[in-house]
Amino acid sequence: MRFDHDTLAQRVRFASGAAAENLAVEIKGLGASRVMVIAAEAERALARRVAAGLPVAHWHHEVAMHVPVEVAERAREEAAAHRVDALVCVGGGSTTGLAKAVALTTGLPIVAVPTTYAGSEATNVWGLTENARKTTGTDPRVLPRAIVYDASLMLTLPAALSVASGLNALAHCVDSMWAPRADPINLALAGEGIRALRVGLPLVAADPGDLEGREHALYGAYLAAVAFASAGSGLHHKICHVLGGMFDLPHAQTHAVVLPHVLAFNAPAAPDAERRVAAALDAESATEGLARLRARLDAPRALRDYGMAESGIVPAAEAILAVVPTGNPTAVTLDGITRLLHAAWEGAEPR
Ligand code: NAD
Repeated sequence: MRFDHDTLAQRVRFASGAAAENLAVEIKGLGASRVMVIAAEAERALARRVAAGLPVAHWHHEVAMHVPVEVAERAREEAAAHRVDALVCVGGGSTTGLAKAVALTTGLPIVAVPTTYAGSEATNVWGLTENARKTTGTDPRVLPRAIVYDASLMLTLPAALSVASGLNALAHCVDSMWAPRADPINLALAGEGIRALRVGLPLVAADPGDLEGREHALYGAYLAAVAFASAGSGLHHKICHVLGGMFDLPHAQTHAVVLPHVLAFNAPAAPDAERRVAAALDAESATEGLARLRARLDAPRALRDYGMAESGIVPAAEAILAVVPTGNPTAVTLDGITRLLHAAWEGAEPR
């Protein structure tokens, strides 16, 4: 066995009902006295509750999907105008993404309080959108210093959104199995992430107020993000990145739809990944296990349901072909990727 593995340095505090308390401890530990709290309008009340005990210099509520550069610029200006010395983000991946955009140019430390399963809080990846083109990169400055996980903050996340977001996390795990920097450590994290999501998500789908299900799913989503940050983007993430950018599709739902098709495409040529995913899903085979879980969750099925036109399949396949990661287990051809996209577009059974 021989590998090189980077572990990203950040503290994780995980406790239901303790977000306000844990957040205050983290901000005190940073010695911050002028905090900017970033939360979307929809999470305004939640953020006020969680950050009530902090020395807040500015509340920022302008958040947009995929972090448009002009939104990032305004947030940076606000941070400078209010002489902010730390950032707190309360919300999903879009909110964490905005905090990262501010940290990227200012170096301000972030404490993240996530309220979806997107997992951006545990990666050093930033993303910005300009003229409908999303650019991503990695930078140590954007990695939050600490994450405050509180599963009780997610009880309001509707079942359908929870399922899509949870399958986005599952996709981080599955794609880590064959991603460019896959190694024994991120494979182990990804396997445990799949197991925890398999336990938690059905409980959440049946009852979004099930705290135990929320805890399992959130723990799984964290492991998923750590595995993904370490292993890098595999074929699944490249496909979703192209589709999201070209057709402005919703992030979590796109991942949820595409995942079974990429698994079916790669699993026959990736026996170790197949065995690990099957075991974590407690199933005979990885594809069967995922199909069973998706049926229990009533998972999103077709890209056309989210506004993608059939005419987009060929240009998307061509764009994906140009960014296929080296070392993908199954050889990727234009014909193969076109068939995969067509099945995902119409919601056919993965082959
Ligand atoms: P999102 O942040 O846009 O949130 C989706 C919706 O959920 C929003 O309407 C939000 O208001 C709502 N919401 C969030 N928390 C809620 C709660 N507790 N109760 C009720 N509603 C709630 O979407 P997302 O899927 O969390 O994140 C997607 C974004 O994150 C994408 O831009 C994606 O590229 C990015 N992302 C980045 C990384 C990274 O490593 N940089 C990783 C994963 C995702």
